[in-house]
Amino acid sequence: MFDKSIKAYEEAKSVIPGGVDSPVRAFSGVLGTPPFIERGEGSYLVDIDGNKYLDFVQSWGPLIFGHCDKDIENVVLDTVKKGLSFGAPTELETQLANEIIDMYDNLEKVRFVSSGTEAVMSAIRLARGVTGKDDIVKFEGCYHGHSDSLLVSAGSGMATFGAPSSPGVPADLTKHTLLAEFNNIAQLEKCFAESSDIACIIIEPIAGNMGLVPASEEFLKKCRELCDANGAMLIFDEVMSGFRASLKGASGIVATTPDIVTFGKVIGAGMPVGAFASRAELMCQLSPEGKIYQAGTLSGNPVAMAAGLKSLQKLKADATIYDRLNEKAVRLTSGLKEVAQKNNIAFQVDTRGSMFGFFFNDIVPTNMKEVASGDLDRFAKFHNEMLKRGFYFACSQYETGFICDTMTNEEIDATIKAADEVMAEL
Ligand SMILES: *Cc1c(COP(=O)(O)O)cnc(C)c1O
Repeated sequence: MFDKSIKAYEEAKSVIPGGVDSPVRAFSGVLGTPPFIERGEGSYLVDIDGNKYLDFVQSWGPLIFGHCDKDIENVVLDTVKKGLSFGAPTELETQLANEIIDMYDNLEKVRFVSSGTEAVMSAIRLARGVTGKDDIVKFEGCYHGHSDSLLVSAGSGMATFGAPSSPGVPADLTKHTLLAEFNNIAQLEKCFAESSDIACIIIEPIAGNMGLVPASEEFLKKCRELCDANGAMLIFDEVMSGFRASLKGASGIVATTPDIVTFGKVIGAGMPVGAFASRAELMCQLSPEGKIYQAGTLSGNPVAMAAGLKSLQKLKADATIYDRLNEKAVRLTSGLKEVAQKNNIAFQVDTRGSMFGFFFNDIVPTNMKEVASGDLDRFAKFHNEMLKRGFYFACSQYETGFICDTMTNEEIDATIKAADEVMAEL
């Protein structure tokens, strides 16, 4: 049933490293090979063999209205007809900027880039530029894109200057990245004890790149306190959780207020977009107003702006959408938990808005080490059996799942029923 995809994968591998343009797509952590996609249809993906899957990945988050939403599709087509890119300002950028900052009391200006990676990289440059400091604090298991200073791994697992986690990243760059365990206040305090040169803490307040692992309120509060006491900036990386966890992202859920917020995914509705935003007094230090340099040929691309603008307008016009999405996320995760219990399988779940996570773990994981202690083989088998039955979950235990607005309770119940069958065999 995967014949054409297997052939396409072989052909792709001969001209593209690993056959994919982003490593997670290669199915390395699970069984089988990746289905090659022909098209999307609302909640579904259709592959080139004609298999149809209920899609809980939704392009890793951006498609909150599902595939081929008519309103977004139409505005994209209209915009495309006027030209793909101008390298000159358009009103669309101001409109999308307004839609974003309207949602936040603490954000006054935003700049658009073309990916989440670029958004975070630029936010960190801004934090370093305004503080005049070099070090940054990041947490194990949080992903902030693939820029050099953010590709670090833990040394001994203690708060430490990070070692590069990829060849090609000079240690000279990662030596400015201090790494601490997520949700571990003692290690966070140690970073500030070891360095008086910390420009910022960067955190996913609702971590979604080690599975779904929200930061505790206490931990976020400590991040804020330490930043305030040491003249550092607190950056919330909301590339995933922005307009996903709630209309205000994590900021609509947690009590702590960051200095800088990064966006991506949903604000582009499936087009390549990122953004970072802060108070005017910080943002005005970016060039051309200020001296901190940041630029992009395709930044604020009109087609991407139009798609994002329509998406945010639709989200704001629909007062109950996040409640609906969360009800479905809870329906799915509590159903999965129930069938896991029935089949004597250790299983943990959580949701935030339209984001959901599940782990084959004995306890609810609160950091990367605990996530990694789960039963990854069981996850791989679960993933494969669900895929064969037409349910497309993220191909790694370290990813978050997404509900889109076109998903129905019937589809979710069918997922739970299939999971029951699969878990009986695990
Ligand atoms: C996806 C993601 C990024 C990177 O965004 P890209 O568009 O893939 O570069 C950064 N931070 C978080 C939290 C993400 O989920």
